[in-house]
Amino acid sequence: MGAALRRADHDLEAVEQAIRCAVLAAGAEMLGKFMSAVGKAQPKTPVLCPHCHRRMRGTGPRRRNMVSLLGPTAYTRARYDCPFCQKSVRYPADEALDVVGTSRSPGLRRQTARLGSKETFQEVAQDLAELAGVQLSRKDAERIAEAVGHDIDTWDQRQRERQRFAPAPAPETPKTMETLYIEMDGTGIPVVPRELEGRKGKQADGSAKTREAKLGCVFTQTTLDEEGRPVRDPASTTFTGAIEETALFGWRIYAEALRRGLYGAKRVVVLADAAEWIKKLVELHFPMAIRIIDFYHAKEHLNHLCQDLFYKPERVAHYRERWWGLLAQGHIESILAEAGPLLSKDPNGDRSARRELAYLDGNKEQMRYRAFREQGLFIGSGVIEAGCKNVIGKRLKQSGMEWTVEGANKIIALRCVTLSGRFNEYWEQRVA
Ligand SMILES: [Zn+2]
Repeated sequence: MGAALRRADHDLEAVEQAIRCAVLAAGAEMLGKFMSAVGKAQPKTPVLCPHCHRRMRGTGPRRRNMVSLLGPTAYTRARYDCPFCQKSVRYPADEALDVVGTSRSPGLRRQTARLGSKETFQEVAQDLAELAGVQLSRKDAERIAEAVGHDIDTWDQRQRERQRFAPAPAPETPKTMETLYIEMDGTGIPVVPRELEGRKGKQADGSAKTREAKLGCVFTQTTLDEEGRPVRDPASTTFTGAIEETALFGWRIYAEALRRGLYGAKRVVVLADAAEWIKKLVELHFPMAIRIIDFYHAKEHLNHLCQDLFYKPERVAHYRERWWGLLAQGHIESILAEAGPLLSKDPNGDRSARRELAYLDGNKEQMRYRAFREQGLFIGSGVIEAGCKNVIGKRLKQSGMEWTVEGANKIIALRCVTLSGRFNEYWEQRVA
């Protein structure tokens, strides 16, 4: 290092880089010694064969390379073989050090996963080299982040199942939470061609390029601002999602709502568009909820209705303004009464407009926007729309990306847990 320092002369940056390299190298050596000490220690309990459950036999030390936050290092640890069934090998020290099946240290895995939830694997490798002085390949970063994502998914799934089968609180339990909101939406993720075989899509030739990820969020609201508008409780939003069938997603979002205290809320609100899958899911899992169709989706339906009914742009604009006003008041019947007589007498004509009117008629109780506002409720599902962009789009829909369903789900799990502020919770239970 002395030579490096002399060469560096007065270049402070070169000096600090050289010192960092030296400190890391010394640290890596210390880490290797520590790991070797663990590797040499006599296990406190007999090492049993996972296969035949008989006592395994120590067969001497084995050396192994490890990449850590301090850079590459090496250590030795005792290997155990089963003399009876000869089917298994164990390294008790690796188990204690949490490096079974991986030559990347826990600290490095944690940082790689956190970065991998935010940026492309290529960028992860670059940032680790630049910021931490650790060399990792792009593929390596991908493997590590996906392994952590997979582990998080498994952990979260176990938690969800526990929630599902936990007994519901007694009905007389006092409700302490004001309002719990549940929102959900779908967003397409670009996938590799083999994930699309036999699926219909929106491309001109009927093929698909994406698979739909379903994303849900839960947040709470306690107070109103000075103008009586609802305020989302700070840091109360959590996300969950995956590319999966509606039935599975239903249980997923239900479990998340349970975790967040579904039965402790005085009011439960589901805010979403009126997609068929959402409707079914809400009927099954959240029959107690106040259902609100996102105000902006409803406005968009009225916009379509006006374009179906009128040719002249002034007329479209006039009725749009008028009906949007009625919508804001929740006067759906008035819109129906005004629009109905404008349809052609031919029952097969104006099909698109008839569809919009049926939509309004079928969902009118979920569009009483004035009443909802008076109750101090949110009427727009902006949180989940921002969530789709932020949780999914930003990381999984960059140009040129193509995911496998499995790979995408691991990263979605990683991002949902990270952006819900649960990464530390996961990591701590993992160590325990
Ligand atoms: Zn055995």
